Amino acid sequence: MRPSPIAASVDFDRDGVQHGFLKLPYSRDDSAWGAVMIPIAVIRNGSGPTVLFTGGNHGDEYEGPIALFDLATTLPAEAVSGRVIIVPALNAPAFAAGRRTSPIDGGNLNRSFPGRPDGSVTEKIADYVQRHLLPLADIVVDIHSGGRTLDFLPFAAIHVLDDAAQQERCRAAMAAFNAPYSLTLVELDAVGMIDSAAEAMGKVFVSTELGGGGGAGAATVAIAKRGVRNILKHAGILAGEVEGGPSVGLDMPDERCLVTSEHAGLLEMCVDLGAEIRAGEVIARIHPIDRTGVPPLDIPAGIDGLLTGRHFPGLVKMGDFLALVAVPKS
Ligand code: ZN
Repeated sequence: MRPSPIAASVDFDRDGVQHGFLKLPYSRDDSAWGAVMIPIAVIRNGSGPTVLFTGGNHGDEYEGPIALFDLATTLPAEAVSGRVIIVPALNAPAFAAGRRTSPIDGGNLNRSFPGRPDGSVTEKIADYVQRHLLPLADIVVDIHSGGRTLDFLPFAAIHVLDDAAQQERCRAAMAAFNAPYSLTLVELDAVGMIDSAAEAMGKVFVSTELGGGGGAGAATVAIAKRGVRNILKHAGILAGEVEGGPSVGLDMPDERCLVTSEHAGLLEMCVDLGAEIRAGEVIARIHPIDRTGVPPLDIPAGIDGLLTGRHFPGLVKMGDFLALVAVPKS
């Protein structure tokens, strides 16, 4: 296959702390020989495992970038046994624009794997991660939040995998991250995700959803900061014990967990994130916005569980994700 056009200004095999860029040539009107510059840090000390941390895979999710810019600035090489690769704003154009997708090509990076070296800017980033970053890593942690359109209970997540031993390694890493909730996740459509790419290579992979709404709060940032250091302790890269308390295990047994809006209108949530709900209980109402005198539509939950995710904006459209009800593990 054609080589990647991306050049790293860091040496992945050198000891010490390096701050640099993944440089992706991008010729355009305002910069004929310009480039997209993706910040990267490599912190390495001797031999040992490699953890790859990525944030900003979607550009409007902030706990990951905050925790990872902070980690890159504060982690001394002497404290490390092994290697930490930190990419806080992986889809850098989307991150700079505060958007989920890239303003350059509309690309959703987490639907673009394995990418193409001769594709769009977003596909070139995916291809570089696929062929150059993921193979270096033993553990991959991709930190997401809900972004502008979703809000979540703060959880770390793994997938159900065919390889039970690999799934158990992922579960142990998810437990070490120690978010307040730990979800075994069923994707609506896993094609093109970094998750599937890393898992197919046999990597230990953990993702998160830490809050949402297109900003970040102190509590969810603290979860992300503690989580990344816990992962390094779990890997044996940092000394010390994993910190935190119990995490509530959650499952998604089937599609009854997910509510998709079949109507448009003004969204009234009747329960908040974390609420215990019963199948059939009204979790939201959708009011028409163009007239008075029409009663709202009641939206029931399909299953007993906890309200784990929700549509964030005040207005909802036909086809929008409306709610996730996950089931606490017994
Ligand atoms: Zn995301």
